[in-house]
Amino acid sequence: MKFVVDGMLGKLTRWLRLAGQNVVYLGDLEVSTETEDKALIRLAEKEDRILLTRDLELHRKAIRCRIKSIYVENEDIAKQLAEISKQIDETIHIDLWNSRCPLCNGRLDSVGKLAVKNEVPQKTFKKHERFWKCTKCNKIYWAGSHWENIAKTSERYERLMEDPSC
Ligand SMILES: [Zn+2]
Repeated sequence: MKFVVDGMLGKLTRWLRLAGQNVVYLGDLEVSTETEDKALIRLAEKEDRILLTRDLELHRKAIRCRIKSIYVENEDIAKQLAEISKQIDETIHIDLWNSRCPLCNGRLDSVGKLAVKNEVPQKTFKKHERFWKCTKCNKIYWAGSHWENIAKTSERYERLMEDPSC
């Protein structure tokens, strides 16, 4: 499953990438505001990507052009993930062993601890055993303090998938 995401969904983009999805974010493309909609639709068509948007007009336009599009109604990230999951009929699960870089969409590779010794803060190096490196931009990731927030959102997402009224 591949996605192209409008400029209002930066946080969702990072989440989907962490969950291993291939996501192009409009904010990363160099297009002028007037041609944004066209660029999104063209890319979705060319690369067979599903458009995710908070813009109802754009969503309707995409559908008219026979582009697969999901109109994202919620602002809350866990609810957004649940919305999309239901539409694509796939669970969205974050697993660093199967992740993409939230910043550039590159694949993450697991790297040996010693390989990152000089690239991460000493405290981090001592505290963590597992590291991942982006194959495209070389940024290094580990399950640091932000991981708790990710886990909390994941739990909320799981609950929403079980009971949509939550
Ligand atoms: Zn990267």
